[in-house]
This record gives sequence, C-alpha cells and structure tokens, in this order.
Amino acid sequence: MRAMIDYLIEAADPQAHRYRVTLKLPRPEATQRLSLPVWIPGSYMVREFSRHLSRLQARQGTRDCRVEPLDKCHWQVACEGAQTLVISYEVYAFDTSVRTAFLDDRRGFFNGTSLCLRAEGREAQPHRLRIGALPKGWQVATAMPPSGRRHEYLCADYDELVDHPVELGSFWRGEFRVRGVPHEFVVAGAWPGFDGPRLLADARRICEAQVTFWHGRGKPPVTRYVFLLNAVDDGYGGLEHRASTALLCARRQLPRQGVAEAGDGYVTLLGLISHEYFHTWNVKRLKPRDFARIDFGRENYTRLLWFFEGFTSYYDDLLLRRAGLIDAPRYLRLLSKTVSGVLATPGRKQQSVAESSFDAWIKYYRSDENTPNATISYYAKGSLVALALDLRLRAAGASLDQVMRQLWVGAAGGPIDEADIANALRQAAGRALDQELADWVHGTEDLPLQNLLAQAGVAWHADPADLAAELGLRVSEGALSGVHVKSVLRGSAAERAGINAGDELLAIDGWRLRRLDEARSWIQPGRPFELTLVRDQRLRSVRVAPAAARPGGVQLKLDDKATPAALALRREWLGV
Ligand SMILES: [Zn+2]
Repeated sequence: MRAMIDYLIEAADPQAHRYRVTLKLPRPEATQRLSLPVWIPGSYMVREFSRHLSRLQARQGTRDCRVEPLDKCHWQVACEGAQTLVISYEVYAFDTSVRTAFLDDRRGFFNGTSLCLRAEGREAQPHRLRIGALPKGWQVATAMPPSGRRHEYLCADYDELVDHPVELGSFWRGEFRVRGVPHEFVVAGAWPGFDGPRLLADARRICEAQVTFWHGRGKPPVTRYVFLLNAVDDGYGGLEHRASTALLCARRQLPRQGVAEAGDGYVTLLGLISHEYFHTWNVKRLKPRDFARIDFGRENYTRLLWFFEGFTSYYDDLLLRRAGLIDAPRYLRLLSKTVSGVLATPGRKQQSVAESSFDAWIKYYRSDENTPNATISYYAKGSLVALALDLRLRAAGASLDQVMRQLWVGAAGGPIDEADIANALRQAAGRALDQELADWVHGTEDLPLQNLLAQAGVAWHADPADLAAELGLRVSEGALSGVHVKSVLRGSAAERAGINAGDELLAIDGWRLRRLDEARSWIQPGRPFELTLVRDQRLRSVRVAPAAARPGGVQLKLDDKATPAALALRREWLGV
C-alpha cells in the first residue's frame, strides 16, 4: 500500500468551538514544509484561514521537532530520518458560513481548506481522513469517498480532500436518484413541520432538468451527490464542490407541511439549489483555464466569472421554469429584479463584467458604500449577457443551451478560455458574435435587452422610481430604526446635495421621516426641499434639488399581442 497522508479530525471541545487535528506524514523531507490555504475555491477572496490555527506541534516518535513559521500560512518542520512525522494542532471554528468551519454542541461543519494542513510536495498522494469520536447521536454527511471503515474516507489527492465539505450532527436526511445516481439531501437546523419530502421532490426535478440539459438521457458526471443545507435564523449562501454543495438558508425559507404554495423565500432557496448543482458542470469541470491548477496560497485570477457565475445565474432560475417549479410570469418577476438591479447600479458604466471578474478578489468580495458606483456584479450582469446571447441565438434558430453543450463536449468537461466560448457561439449562430462579446462582456454600454425581449414576446414596463431611487440613495430604513444612508449614487441629486453614506435622515421640510418614501405625501414633485440629517452626532440641514426623474425598476410581462414570430420564440424559450 502506498504511503497514506492521514488526518484525524476530532470535535475536541465543542463548547469552545475547537477541532483537534492530527496529521501523520510518513517519510517526511528533512525540512518538511506545511501550508494552509488562504482561500477556498468558489469564494474569490483571501481569507487567511491560518488565523484560526493554533498550538501547532510536531513529533517523530518521542522526539519533538522544531516548527518554524515562514509566513502567514507556511511552516517548516525540521525532521530526522524517515520516521513518520506527527503534526497536531487546533482550529477555532465558529463561522456559520459555508466557507470555513463551525463547531458547537449541536453541530459541526468543516471544509478541508480550514482544517487540513497541506504537506508540500506530497499533494498528489492519496489522503485519508478519519473523524474521531463524536457526541452521542451525531452523524456524518459528506460526498468524500468512504473507505469502508466507519467515519473514514479516502481521497486521491489533496485537492480532492479539500473539495468535500463535511457536516456533523443530528440532522434530517433523505435521498433520491437521478438516472440511477444517488443524491443525498441533508438538512441541519430545520424546525418541526419542515416538509422534507417536498424539498426532496422539488430538488429531484431540478436535478433531472439539469442532467437532461447537459446530457439528454445520459447520466450526470458524478457517482453520488450530496446537498448539505444548514438552516439558521437568518442567512443565505452556497458554495459549489465537485460532488456536493454546502448551502445556508433562513429557516423560514424551508417548505412547511400543509403549505402548498411556494413562497418567495422557498423559490429563492430552489434557485440556490439549482445554481450550485449547475456548477457541478459549469466551473467544477468546465472551468477557466486559469483554474486548471489551483494555487491555494494566493489569488487565482480569471476574467471569466461573468461566464462561470453569470451564465450559471441565468440558468438557475430558467431551469426552475423548465422543471415546472415556477410559471413564466414568476420567472419574469425574478428576471425583472435582476434587470432593475443592474440598471440601478451606476458602476455598470465604470466596469465591464470581464474586469469585474478579474477584480472579484478586491471588489465584489470586499464591498463597501462605493461598490454600486465603481463595480458591476458579474453574477447579475453576467446573467443578462447570457439572456441577451440566448435571445439573439434563438432569433437565429439556435440557443445558448447548444453553446453550453458544445463547450462541454468540445472541452471534454475541462478547462476553457474566452476563445472557446467565442468559437462555440460562432458555431451555434452560424456567424461570429465577437462584436456582441466586445460590447457586452468587455464594454460598459447597456445591453439591448428591451429590444431583445420584445422580439421574445416580453413587454418592458418601466416602474416609477421611489424617492430613494429618484434621489440616488440606497438606504436601510424601518419605523423604529429610522432612515440610514448606505450608498450615495454617482451623479445623483443626493450626491450634489452633499448627503454622505452613514448619514441618518431625520426630516424633510421639518417633518419627521420614518421611511423616506413617506415624504412623497408632503413634498412637491420635482421641487427642492430641506433635508435634516445627523452626521457624526451633529445635526445639519441640506437643500436637495431633485433632478430629472431617474429610472425606477422594470417589470417584465408576457405580451400576448406580440408578433407570431415573437410568440413562437417565447414558446421555445419559456414554454408559453
Ligand atoms: Zn455560483
């Protein structure tokens, strides 16, 4: 048997949120280097996981080995001879997000990127992971390949080890099959009355629609898939992995027994499930050439997140529609939100989605009050680029579906770059779409969505702006908390008046504000007014002169008076 790199993970001190990890490394180098990733693939930000690692010790037999830190995430150990090196350390784990690790007396969760030190030079060897004794009643759920022994798992290499998150605790679990492939669904934290069978049935329809999308009647590229969903009081997010996904939702988003209607929260959760499952193909296998080899020690840049995240975002809701889980008007309501959000973001004129992809590490993931002015989301605008391309292709008798499948087959489910995307588009359209890519992906002009949607039997209705949108403000507000400015949009009336992010807005023309839009009841449309605000404990007053009306949101609706050609295109696209 080949030398196995072996990890023992113990939920050593749940009350103190500490895991104990013991790593056994046979035949170490004389100077053995170890490192911990600084990021987790799928979440493009340097997070310095080593800040939660402590009490790092090393031994060979009874001999202590000297451990020397080299930088924030590398250590070297002085070894003597080939005797197995035993490294032990603790990891503090109290983050409920899907990106790191968590442990308390009810539940544990971890990604290997947070817990498993990497033995440098040995990454390509087989890695074994064992889970130590657990509190009574706890179970383990993971897509990591089991060894056949209880709570023991075997991975081909380090990359695989850290691409299978692990859930620990007493949780709900169910299973369904897609083309004979088992899919497990684990839900931690659900309240009584949670409708598990409903969630399983709906998730299964999503998975079936996606496998059909990529493979027709074929099988998915996994032998087993696991959904790890943690339900909390408040939270939302997901992270994709090669054969599983870690999901986080608010408890109220879960389906409830006896409630047939799918509320907005539940549809959002289904969209998340669809999004992460789609990544099984788009980013975990079909991936940017820049990610062909992951460097865990630093940022890994790509200009293609508009494709891997944006196109995945386009298909997540569209496939809910194809799976029959939402109707076309509801699909268009979801799409309206995305279109409205992009149009309300001045940063779309500053940054292309290719630039936004590249800068994800310092911009998208590090948002602040200036983010809407300086950046555009590669998720939101990327999904609209997909929509625009799909509608253009459909007008030429093709579709974006063909492009995705062509890419999958052409790259054999492997790395691609932008030239491959351009080629696949050319093949499907029968002509190059290079100008569209230049304008929509590398440019900052608005996409011609209104026209493209009209040609697809969808009418575009502009919503009137509320007062915040008209003034160019993003606020958080509530009857008790008051009105607080989160962002002041570039070129807006609010910016000209000197309103700042962080200001608390108290009154307009001497009348107390509880919600900004209330002031519509007493101000004259288009006329200047006096705004009283608090900044850094001090009251001050500014004069606000509303400019020409800024656009509000957009409502997209089925247009049954569209031309027969438009209605035919819509039937192909949305099934109505
Ligand atoms: Zn994603």
